[in-house]
Amino acid sequence: MVDSSMFMIQHPSATCPGCESSLSYGTKEEASSWKVYYECNDGCGFNQMAGRVKLTDVDHQDEVHDRAREMGEQWTNRNEQK
Ligand SMILES: [Zn+2]
Repeated sequence: MVDSSMFMIQHPSATCPGCESSLSYGTKEEASSWKVYYECNDGCGFNQMAGRVKLTDVDHQDEVHDRAREMGEQWTNRNEQK
């Protein structure tokens, strides 16, 4: 779950599947990986763990944020077919 100690960063293009507001993401360090969470900026209740980044896969915390942002691509409208 997202908690108040997490530093949330607004995603540039991802939108909430529930209310279409913008989304923010945050990371949480665990023993061997970073958990990546996404949360609705409008507080509609959407929050979801998008995935994990293994500590062994990244050299620097900046890379964790890059990967976390990439995980949000699933909530952008870029690839939506209508
Ligand atoms: Zn929402």
